[in-house]
Amino acid sequence: MKAIQYRQYASTKRAAKEPTANAQPLVSVIIPFLNEADVLAVCHQRVCDALATLRQHCEIVYVDDGSTDNSWALVSQLKHPVHQVRSLRLSRNFGKEAAMSAGMKVAEGRCVILLDADLQDPPEYIPAMVQAWQDGAQVVEMQRRERHGESWIKRTTAHCFYRFMSKISDHPITENVGDFRLMDQKVVAVINTLPERTRFMKGLLAWPGFTRKILTFDRDPRLAGDTKWNYPKLIHLALEGITSFSTKPLRWATMAGLTTSAIAFIMALVIFTKTLFWGDPVAGYPSTMLIILFLGGIQLLSIGVLGEYVGRLFIESKQRPLYVLMENALSKPTLHSVDA
Ligand code: UDP
Ligand code: MG
Repeated sequence: MKAIQYRQYASTKRAAKEPTANAQPLVSVIIPFLNEADVLAVCHQRVCDALATLRQHCEIVYVDDGSTDNSWALVSQLKHPVHQVRSLRLSRNFGKEAAMSAGMKVAEGRCVILLDADLQDPPEYIPAMVQAWQDGAQVVEMQRRERHGESWIKRTTAHCFYRFMSKISDHPITENVGDFRLMDQKVVAVINTLPERTRFMKGLLAWPGFTRKILTFDRDPRLAGDTKWNYPKLIHLALEGITSFSTKPLRWATMAGLTTSAIAFIMALVIFTKTLFWGDPVAGYPSTMLIILFLGGIQLLSIGVLGEYVGRLFIESKQRPLYVLMENALSKPTLHSVDA
């Protein structure tokens, strides 16, 4: 009896002394970046200010996606008295998708928020996102109301792409929702098990499902520096998205083949009948050229579509790692209580 009492006493004492620093962080904020030295200090400050309102022990995970400026030197110095700061450094530029995946693998928080370092996704929304999660949503998607600082061409192409993707994808992808979102650790655990190398994050993040809530926000312009995206990269991303989330283009190629064959058969019948009964001369050079070019176009397009899928298979079959981690630094909080 005495022994049991002592054990209970010892465990309550341990609990009382248990520093907040060792508790599981409430939120892990993952920030992938590439050459963002101009914005990282402001970003850290604004994220810490937003986390302060939660009054709980949190975690910030910076992922350096092969920066060539002094971003890593800046980030590896960052500390916080009550929040844990982890800095990962990839061995080269693997792309934002790989950097986010690296962050999600190490995140310890009960929920995870993905955030851009350039502050286009305002960290001030973090408390509202956490509130929505605490109210029961397992995924909180942040939908852009306005896209400040983006050209109308980018806005229009992005809009068309989202419309197209949601039409052909087997799983719904909410329009105008980027990577800025909150996910419960259960959702993150599922995403961490998805093995594909070609990672179309908007699709992958939507794939597990779970209960969702959409919050709207105004996207700010970039704080400093330039966007890392250009049109060739965006076209590549669009093709990756289409081929990794739908096999409909293959079906369309088959349908195009069937339709042209049917048209060719009907035309052959018409020409044959006309020649046989009325002795009409066969239609001339322009129509022949037109048909050859049309069929050639459809054939090349279909081979291209097939090639895209075969290319994906080739990349997946190599089973290379998604990223290579060069450094992994952890700065533990120094204060043992959020109120201290
Ligand atoms: N980024 C990255 N790796 C890359 C490209 C971008 O980690 O290869 C980061 C970048 O530093 C920023 C975020 O991803 O924090 C969003 O990138 P960017 O602002 O260039 O994209 P946009 O907002 O224009 O779509
Ligand atoms: Mg940006």
